[in-house]
Amino acid sequence: MQCQQITELMSLELDELLEDAERHRLYSHLAECPECQRTWAAMRQLSRVLTVAPMAMPSPDFTDRVMQRIAQRRARRQLVAGYLVLAAGLLLLSALPLASWLRALIASYEPGTIPGVWGNVVAFLAYVGDVLGSLVNAAELVVEAVLTTLPYGALLLVALLMGGLTIIWIQAVMGVRRRDAEERR
Ligand SMILES: [Zn+2]
Repeated sequence: MQCQQITELMSLELDELLEDAERHRLYSHLAECPECQRTWAAMRQLSRVLTVAPMAMPSPDFTDRVMQRIAQRRARRQLVAGYLVLAAGLLLLSALPLASWLRALIASYEPGTIPGVWGNVVAFLAYVGDVLGSLVNAAELVVEAVLTTLPYGALLLVALLMGGLTIIWIQAVMGVRRRDAEERR
């Protein structure tokens, strides 16, 4: 049998269109013809690639999913930024009273009342507290000056700051919730 005829049979076999008798002719020729074996191997490989290739293509909603993922990440970043802004604001507002309280606590410590290593640690903390305390003193003087000269203005400023921070935070949180809800739909 001619090898060219066999090639046609191979093509039909790949499409599963061969009769039993033709299939038998194909495989008995393949058993004794190395050249057709090579052709058959190449044809089957090509057929496999063509069958698999369409599945490797991006699915139609691939772009949608990528865009969704990007929006999700952006929302999370906004939420984190919102929390950071809120935390920074709270820290700023609580720093002065907290520092004053710490300073008073450390100032009330009498040297020598705690023996050994812990006494040294506390003495060191008291020293650090003194240094920080003078900084807090300076800051308090500034705040006091502002409060006495512009009491309502300063309070208004703090209120506006807190209000602004709260609004930014709420917007960030609500933005995330909204996007989450949209994604679930
Ligand atoms: Zn052959």
